[in-house]
Amino acid sequence: MSQSMRQEEIPTACPRCGKPINQNRSSWGRIQTSCGEDGCRQYVYRINKAKRIDKERQDAVTALSQAILHATDVLMQMDREHGHLQAQQIVEAIEWKRCKHDKITILEENAVAARRRAEKAEEHNQHLEALYKQRIQELEEEVRIYQSLESTIHSIGLRQLEQQPEA
Ligand SMILES: [Zn+2]
Repeated sequence: MSQSMRQEEIPTACPRCGKPINQNRSSWGRIQTSCGEDGCRQYVYRINKAKRIDKERQDAVTALSQAILHATDVLMQMDREHGHLQAQQIVEAIEWKRCKHDKITILEENAVAARRRAEKAEEHNQHLEALYKQRIQELEEEVRIYQSLESTIHSIGLRQLEQQPEA
């Protein structure tokens, strides 16, 4: 854990069991992130790991958006006449998100079928439905990312069109 935490960020209680921590800590003492009990240490570890994965995922999305924006910007600067069309072609290449929509429909149908079976009190199918739902959420998130990328690129294309000098 970083020692450069600001005073107000230093936890005063274990995030899992609530036991007081960092109470009599000297300014150079190690900052406790949990009470030190096994279950609590593992809890803090899992939370920090999940936060790190979320951040990595967010960074990957940001890097992807920037790479696409950069590529389309370069295209439009290099060729004022056709650059925006090439940029739009890139967007069309991203359009395979449509396939994902189809996949989502199938998954949703599967989830409904799974629920019908689950209603017969089959725990296994309830578990299956939960898995389907999770997968649907993941796919929807991917679709959302691609849609936001697409609209960003599209608006750049439009701006570029507006800036084209009248022939
Ligand atoms: Zn604890």
